[in-house]
Amino acid sequence: MLRKKIIKNRKKLTDKPKITIKKDIVAPLQTVKGMRDILPEDWRYWDFILERAKKLCQAYGYRQIETPILEETSLFSRSVGEATDIVEKEMYSFYSKSRENLSLRPEATAGIARAYLKNGMANWPQPVKLFYFGAMFRYEKPQAGRHREFWQIGYETLNDPSSVLDAQVIQLAFKIFEKIGLKNLTIQINSIGCPECRPEYQKLLKDYYRNKTNRICLNCRNRFAKNPLRLLDCKEEKCIQIINGAPQSIDHLCSECHNHFKEILEYLDELELPYTLNPFLVRGLDYYTKTVFEICPETGPFAGLALGGGGRYDELIKILGGEETPSLGYSMGVERTVQEMKNQNISVPPLFTPKVFLTQLGESARKKSLKIFQDLTEANIKTGESFGRGSIKSQLKVADKLGVKLALILGQKEAIDKVIIIRDMKTGMQEIVRLDKVIDEIKKRLKNI
Ligand SMILES: [Zn+2]
Ligand SMILES: [Zn+2]
Repeated sequence: MLRKKIIKNRKKLTDKPKITIKKDIVAPLQTVKGMRDILPEDWRYWDFILERAKKLCQAYGYRQIETPILEETSLFSRSVGEATDIVEKEMYSFYSKSRENLSLRPEATAGIARAYLKNGMANWPQPVKLFYFGAMFRYEKPQAGRHREFWQIGYETLNDPSSVLDAQVIQLAFKIFEKIGLKNLTIQINSIGCPECRPEYQKLLKDYYRNKTNRICLNCRNRFAKNPLRLLDCKEEKCIQIINGAPQSIDHLCSECHNHFKEILEYLDELELPYTLNPFLVRGLDYYTKTVFEICPETGPFAGLALGGGGRYDELIKILGGEETPSLGYSMGVERTVQEMKNQNISVPPLFTPKVFLTQLGESARKKSLKIFQDLTEANIKTGESFGRGSIKSQLKVADKLGVKLALILGQKEAIDKVIIIRDMKTGMQEIVRLDKVIDEIKKRLKNI
């Protein structure tokens, strides 16, 4: 019978096209540059953050969306902007076999805006509130703590111009960090105006920089020509001095932008959220209008570095060919948040802590134990096992290490008699119970411990 089965399966295997692996080629053991494995020890943090963020996003009316990791390159060049660092230098772009110009998503907003149009979300109840969690890719020089594949959690509110939503987006962003347990955070906020008032301000900015171009870095000279707002974003020492004297966008807003911004600050005051006006905050993407904000630790190794950021992008969907759809969003970097949690000594519980450990000895006991294990997990009793180990002693050692309250011992005799031994790991007391009563008995005991 068994032999027949094997022969049958073999035949199936040989039906498939043959893949020959040259024996002299050693399988590559390295990850691609800038990529890394996220091991279970670290994934605990990812999971901890995601679980809290997800619950809060749902409570604020956001529903989860996942857009493709791969999009047409033009989506990002049109939305994020041709003259941004992301599109100019950091895109993972390539040609597919059918000569399509594709890119791994460097951020999520552009894909979601595309999804809004493609799926006719304008016909859904407005605003459309969506949240996401996923990997993004930027081809930047990998440096300490930065990777080319990185994770973001974020959310978008599509099609609503009201300032109250700007405040709510910021409130939620702050709340997520609070729920994770982070302290000493501050919100930096600015308004960079709209197509009405921004050109005027950009002109003032260019006028200010015009006779200083020989004193700024090479990058800034490029920005001066292509994307003057980004001049304010430079981190070079010599440029920072010049930035400090530059005209500020909040002094040159049109009345609509001015009022919008004023209202947001009033909401933030009402919510008693800690914010600082940062007149030089612009964010690195072209699609932002009006509000931009970042959330940063006030102290510690990441002081002043954004853990998350976002803003309004009232023009984005129009740029992609849709109707006027004023929208806004936020995203937080998971890696940096995890690091900040470690900086602030926030401990994360292990993903799985069994309360009960199932041990077995002998052939017939082992056969039964799989079913018992399944019954226990179905009854929501977190159960550990080490079925591969031979002796009860070595299995109990594992149980002891895991710190379980109770161990179940199933030997040959117990298997035949349809009973099991419950051992209290603390006192060492053992009791025999009937197999069909074991779940009730364990539940009772766990309650009493
Ligand atoms: Zn304006
Ligand atoms: Zn510079």
